[in-house]
Order: sequence, then C-alpha cells, then structure tokens
Amino acid sequence: MQSVKVVVVGSGVVGLSTAVCIAENLPHCSVTVISERFSPDTTSDGAAGILFASQFPDIPLERQCRWFKESFDHLLAIAQSSECGEAGVILSSGCQVFKEGPAERPFWADYVLGFCILSEREMKRFPDHKFGQAFTTVKCECITYLPWLEKRFRNAGGELQHGKVSDLQHLAETYDVIVNCSGLGARSLVGDAKMYPIRGQILKFHAPWVKNFIRDGDGHTYIYPGVNSVTLGGTRQAGDWRLDVDTGDREGILERCFRMDPALHGGQVVGEWVGLRPGRESPRVEVERLKTAEGREVPLVHNYGHGGWGVTLAWGTALDALGLVRQSLQQHPPMARL
Ligand SMILES: Cc1cc2nc3c(=O)[nH]c(=O)nc-3n(C[C@H](O)[C@H](O)[C@H](O)COP(=O)(O)OP(=O)(O)OC[C@H]3O[C@@H](n4cnc5c(N)ncnc54)[C@H](O)[C@@H]3O)c2cc1C
Repeated sequence: MQSVKVVVVGSGVVGLSTAVCIAENLPHCSVTVISERFSPDTTSDGAAGILFASQFPDIPLERQCRWFKESFDHLLAIAQSSECGEAGVILSSGCQVFKEGPAERPFWADYVLGFCILSEREMKRFPDHKFGQAFTTVKCECITYLPWLEKRFRNAGGELQHGKVSDLQHLAETYDVIVNCSGLGARSLVGDAKMYPIRGQILKFHAPWVKNFIRDGDGHTYIYPGVNSVTLGGTRQAGDWRLDVDTGDREGILERCFRMDPALHGGQVVGEWVGLRPGRESPRVEVERLKTAEGREVPLVHNYGHGGWGVTLAWGTALDALGLVRQSLQQHPPMARL
C-alpha cells in the first residue's frame, strides 16, 4: 500500500508531540514536520514548563480534564524513568498562594500528586496571602525535551524540514493530510484573527538552594526551580508584540519574587528571556477540509492556540489531533494525487 503523506506545520512542543503521536501510531503514514523555527528558537523552548492550567471557556470540561490527565501521565512516566535526565522532565513540589481565599478547587487537582490545602501554620510563611494549595506536579524543560522528541520522531521514521509555509493549498498538492501546529503563526497562516500574543518576560536565576516552587494565584509572580536554574516570572501582557527585555519588567519581577520568597537573596540573575504565548480564548483542536485546485479534498487538522498552557496540554491535544487524523483517513481515504 502507498504510504499516506502527512505534514505537520510547526515544531514547538505542540507540533513535535503531535508528529510523534502520528508517526508512532499510524505506521502506514509517512510524517514530515516543516517549520520556520526549531529548538532552541521556538516559544516552547523558553517556557518554564510547569504542568498547571486554568480553565478555557469554550471547551467541555471533560475534554480539558482528558488533555491534562493524558499530558500529566505521559510526562510523569518519563519523570519516573531512566529517560528523565535526557528528556528534561522532573517532578516539582510546591504551592500556589492566593491573596483572597478560599480559591476554587482546580479541575486538575485529582491528576497532580498529593493536592492539599495549606494549614494556618503553613500560611504564616506568606504574610501577603490568605489561602494556599500544595501539590507535586511535573516540570518539562522544553530546551531539553524538544530535542528528545525530535530524536523520538526520527526513530519513528519522521523527517524534519526547515521552511516557512505561507500557502496551505500549495502543501495540499503534495500531502494527503495537513496538521497545523503553528502557534501564534496561525494568525497569518490561516487568518485566525482570534489569535493574539500574550507577552511573557522571565529571568533565569542561580539559587540552587531553592527547591520548591511558589506561584501567586494571580499568575503574575512565580518561582519555579528547574534542572539548572530557577525561573522567576513574570508578565502576562495581552496584545504586546515586543520581544525585547524590558528593564521595568525585570525590576518588578525581582521585587515581587524576593518578597514572596526571601530565600532568593544571595542568588544572581544568569539569563533573561521574552516569549509570546499563542493567546486565544480557547485552543483550536478540530478538523476542516481543504479543496485543492485539482478537486482533491485534504483534511486540515488544527492544533494551536494553547496560550500559557501549551507545555501542559501538548500531549493531550496531540492525542486528540491523532484521533482526528485517523478518523478523517477512515471516513475519506486519500484521493490519488495527479
Ligand atoms: C514566559 C512564558 C512562560 C511559560 N510558561 C509555561 C508553563 O510553565 N507551562 C506551560 O504549559 N506553558 C507555558 N508557557 C506557554 C507555552 O510556551 C506555549 O503555550 C507553548 O510553547 C505553545 O507551543 P506551540 O508549539 O503551540 O507554539 P511554538 O512553540 O510557538 O511553536 C510554533 C511553531 O510553529 C512554527 N511556525 C509558525 N508559523 C509557521 C509557518 N507559517 N510556517 C512554518 N512554521 C511556522 C514556529 O516556527 C514554531 O516552530 C509559557 C510561555 C511563556 C512566554
């Protein structure tokens, strides 16, 4: 049987996760990733990569739970295996604290490990906050995880190609299925005006004695210890396209993080980074059919718009995208290319 040609556009954490899922589960497909940027130059590479999520308004909660659980279980298995060092996936324990409380129990509380409410005695450590939750989650450092995924993809027979895609119709002349994982790039690639940047600035900080994460429930201040440094953040500036470091943001991050965890004193800044989260009210994980000039119909599976939770949800949404590819191929076997 002639192999079915699948192309995935984008090689951030969403594109590579999707490409691996398709290449490993659909052996009759030959899968190519085409991307303008690869690791270490994608947005995913700079993300703190802590598994955590807020709820999207337009996606059924049951589907969001599945995305979170599948991603968490996939990464937990890596964190607990001999692969964890090479993949850059580790367990991370800490707490999220709120200035007002009590906060609602998050939908993912049963999927992370040991979720509990902080006692009054434990809250004494956080004089600015009234309520807190403690748990163990996973930290997936994409600067290491993406090359590991690339290797896994190549081992499954996949091919990686550099290139900017500007015309999906053109791709449809060569491929039987197109999967769009272009993140913020979807704004121009498929003209999705609902996509917008959410600017995030972070600092890499040397303080190896800091072991536990702390996140302010408002999402603006966080301290995430990782393999080689602690990530201090952050900013969430919707509609802001600036990629340069802002010194005012830097000062603000340091001041808020030091106040939240005085144990950071004595450490030092070793790096700074700005990235644009692919903002959208809810991610787009669905299929449409693209008509080519020669009259063929090609499934176009979208998987983008994960906002601040792309590392968290990548594997879960990749499995959904795989399901959409499989279903499209069963319902409409590919028509011969001329
Ligand atoms: C400061 C900061 C901290 C974050 N922390 C976390 C966190 O702790 N946990 C979490 O879950 N998430 C976090 N995120 C969010 C996370 O980074 C994103 O949700 C995630 O990276 C999105 O992945 P993606 O693959 O969709 O996009 P990207 O990583 O941006 O990848 C998009 C890919 O598509 C390619 N592309 C785009 N357009 C085209 C085109 N026309 N042709 C060819 N290729 C194209 C790009 O080159 C790139 O390879 C953070 C983000 C920021 C900025």
